[in-house]
Amino acid sequence: MNLKSSRERQKQLIVQRSKIDANELADALLSGNRSSLSKAITLVESNQNKYFEIGRKVLDLCLPHSENSIRIGITGVPGVGKSTFIESFGLHLIEKNKKVAVLAIDPSSKKTGGSILGDKTRMEKLSVHPNAFIRPSPSNGALGGVANATRESMLLCEAAGFDIIIIETVGVGQSETEVRQMVDFFLLLLIPGAGDELQGIKRGIMEMADAIAVNKADGDNIHKAKVAAQEYANALHLFQISPNSWTPKTLTCSAQFGEGINKIWEIILEFNALTRSNNWWEHRRKEQEKMWFDKLIESQLLYHFHSNSHIKSEILELEKKVLNKEINTFNAVQVLIQKFKNQA
Ligand code: GDP
Repeated sequence: MNLKSSRERQKQLIVQRSKIDANELADALLSGNRSSLSKAITLVESNQNKYFEIGRKVLDLCLPHSENSIRIGITGVPGVGKSTFIESFGLHLIEKNKKVAVLAIDPSSKKTGGSILGDKTRMEKLSVHPNAFIRPSPSNGALGGVANATRESMLLCEAAGFDIIIIETVGVGQSETEVRQMVDFFLLLLIPGAGDELQGIKRGIMEMADAIAVNKADGDNIHKAKVAAQEYANALHLFQISPNSWTPKTLTCSAQFGEGINKIWEIILEFNALTRSNNWWEHRRKEQEKMWFDKLIESQLLYHFHSNSHIKSEILELEKKVLNKEINTFNAVQVLIQKFKNQA
């Protein structure tokens, strides 16, 4: 068992051993108790119905107290400096009396069971700061779906009083689209001296960005970083103007030396002011709520479908028949759906 999964198992065990009362847990979470927040997140991440249901109850009690944060997505390929950046940025925000929660999504562990984000010592100062909360998100196994678990964790963090939520994702796969769909502001980190292909950055990710920061702009890299930032700024001009009237910003920073970190915060505040005044902020959050609604229907339907005992026994039989060409796929699915409907 790797380090991450054993840690997750431990968390599950802590939740299992203690008798959980949703009302008590929600009260403690709302008063800012961090271990209650951790416990509630473990519940919404659970792949066991009984724990997941308690998690839902806690979430239900917490929802009226959430949504008061700025949600920031940060993406970039491994090595670009995300954890160094978040450490520096998070501490900067804490100095401004903010409470910062970081949820890290690591798509790599889906395939390998290992983790890019979870295992190494990351964000050393931030992770022990009383006004910060750092938590890797599950990459598989959550009953309500991985993206939903992250979104629900985010709402729980907000209810616990965190006013800045950072969702970190490795910019190599699908997950940044999902993250984009749950944050207000999306920051793409790049480094100078590597072409787009090298950095694995697809045009689609650049289009999603509200700001691009070229990191590691220090020492001999300063000039290269400025040139790269200019190139990205030119590339961004080719994209259509966003319906929120925001022109994506490009800048350089050095997470290691704390340069440009304040500038990024100023950009986020500027974005916040603009999009709140032109109602885009609210519009976007409503759109996201709608997406969440659709996703929950999908994941809950799938869950109930696959956990239905009649379906479970039939599905393997039908799969065999499909492979033996005794029935075609379409008709096999119709048989299952009909069976499911008859149970409803
Ligand atoms: P992540 O994989 O994207 O989270 O990247 P890390 O934050 O772990 O950083 C990868 C490496 O780049 C580490 O050795 C960092 O010390 C280094 N690094 C991060 N930010 C900077 C920076 O601003 N300047 C320089 N010179 N190195 C940096």
